[in-house]
Amino acid sequence: MIKDLVRPELQKLVPYVSHQIPYRIKLDANESPFELPASISKRLEDYLKNGPGLNIYPDNESTELRKTLAKYWNVDSDEIVVGTGSNQLIQLIITVFVGNGEKVVYPWPTFSMYKINTLIAGGVPVEVPLDKDRDFLFAVDEFIDTVNRERAKVVFLCNPNNPTGGMISLEDIERIVKECSNSIIVVDEAYAEFCTQSAVSFVKKYENLVVLRTFSKAYLLAGARCGYSISGPEIANEINKIRPTYNVSSLTQLIAKMVFEEQKEMQDKILYLIEQRGNLEDSLRKIKDVYIYPSFANYILIKVPEAGIISKELEKRGILIRDFSNDPILHDCIRISVGTKEQNDIFLKEFSDIINSFLRTL
Ligand SMILES: *Cc1c(COP(=O)(O)O)cnc(C)c1O
Repeated sequence: MIKDLVRPELQKLVPYVSHQIPYRIKLDANESPFELPASISKRLEDYLKNGPGLNIYPDNESTELRKTLAKYWNVDSDEIVVGTGSNQLIQLIITVFVGNGEKVVYPWPTFSMYKINTLIAGGVPVEVPLDKDRDFLFAVDEFIDTVNRERAKVVFLCNPNNPTGGMISLEDIERIVKECSNSIIVVDEAYAEFCTQSAVSFVKKYENLVVLRTFSKAYLLAGARCGYSISGPEIANEINKIRPTYNVSSLTQLIAKMVFEEQKEMQDKILYLIEQRGNLEDSLRKIKDVYIYPSFANYILIKVPEAGIISKELEKRGILIRDFSNDPILHDCIRISVGTKEQNDIFLKEFSDIINSFLRTL
């Protein structure tokens, strides 16, 4: 009975499940391995003591946080919208622009939320395949043709791309924004801190561009749920019309602002992880039977025989990584988040042990 009442486009969806498994090392969700700096925890405690208390609603406009972000990005505050993670902004943007039967185009494989939110809106996902045999190469001309032929309302470019780790050049991004001027182009820069290029500077020039950034990866705050969009004021205003009231909690607004103001410390952590990514790649390259896709983010996608078995075995040893063995395209791949040197070393030891002893006797 309930099932019959549900909108037809939602009947086949399944809830997103993030397994809560006990672990020694968590390298499965691209979170930062670092905890909040002590100085920030201390200021948080003071806030909880001295208020304004959690009995009071938060600032609906996240004014102070937006001011801090606007100053850093050299844009106006009214060009920024804050959400409970950039996931909320993905959903809001699709809700604003995509109606029943309208198309959303993105390269594939990529972050699954573009597809899920398109289906929720009753839209039609159009996936442009990346070339797996050539390190998931992005063919810009073909992509532009598809966007225009399908009359896409919205385009998603995850840059660097999750989970492949590849990057689209700023030249290609600008071409897409220019040559697909009847579509909203969303550049999801969840991992851009690790590749040091950004499309934010194009926002002033192109009214159809939205850049998404998050606090969940480089800025340590996956648990606080905070992300934001940077776009022209027109798109920002449309998103704000449907943004749930008081969406971002006062605690999240405060922590995000404090963390963002510690730029020096954050940049140090980012540089550290970039260095560890290089070390991890070098070590993985030495393991026979493993292929490494080039990464510009804080994770590495690798091709291995028996990806599913290896993932299970790692999990038994307390190491969580992302297993793609059930994915039609990435069935022989796993994704490893870059952790601290100590974490990466433990992963490498267990991983090569599994490959050498366990797998070779299969
Ligand atoms: C992790 C991730 C995000 C961040 O989502 P939040 O809701 O901000 O935690 C956004 N986009 C991609 C591609 C991601 O991998």
